[in-house]
Order: sequence, then structure tokens, then C-alpha cells
Amino acid sequence: MIEHKRYSSVEEYARGLRETNLPQTEIEELIVHERAHFERAKQLRYTPLYALSTYTIENPLNVLILFNGVIFSEKNPTDRHMIKILLAPRDPSEDDLYVSRRLKRELKRETRRLKKLKRNSA
Ligand SMILES: [Zn+2]
Repeated sequence: MIEHKRYSSVEEYARGLRETNLPQTEIEELIVHERAHFERAKQLRYTPLYALSTYTIENPLNVLILFNGVIFSEKNPTDRHMIKILLAPRDPSEDDLYVSRRLKRELKRETRRLKKLKRNSA
């Protein structure tokens, strides 16, 4: 069975993680990491949620994690804010680094494009 859970507090999120088969030390690391994303997003006035998607194998009972991370309800962060949110943890993941680098490149390209437009319309 696949379940998609959303939590608005770190306590509920921790409870959800404890239902999976992850070792306690990894759960603690995940919480510290995701909480950094979550808190930065809140500072930037977004409405983040902890998201956890699990797949449960009934026999033997085994709860696997399909997706774990922070998502946004209401509005999505701007690219600039997203970079800050991605780089909030002390040790960003490979994915965090990859996506933030890509966003930075896109922002640079966009800035160049706008400058060119400005020059052409002047
Ligand atoms: Zn991360």
C-alpha cells in the first residue's frame, strides 16, 4: 500500500518517520536536515509541509520510504528563495546542491536576457 502523508509540525513528521524501517540515527539526521529547509521556508513566508510517501509491504511488515522532503502549499517559492531553502541545511544533499546549481544558472541566464532586452528597448 502506498501512502502520501503531509505534516505541518516536526513532531508529527518524526512520528511518521518512526513508523518506517529507518534506523533511529538516520531518522534524527533526516529531521535535522528537513527541519532546516522547513524553517527557512517559513522565514521566507511560505507554507511548507513535511511530506512522506511510504510503501508498506504487509508480510513481513516493512514500511519503505518512497519520498521524503519538504513541499509547499499555497504558493511555490521564487527561484531565488528556493536556492536559499535548498541550501539551508548544514550539509545539503546531492539533490539540494544539484537543483540549487541549476536554479542559479537559470537565474543568471534570465538576468542576461533581461539586460539584453533593456538595452534593445533603450
Ligand atoms: Zn535537502
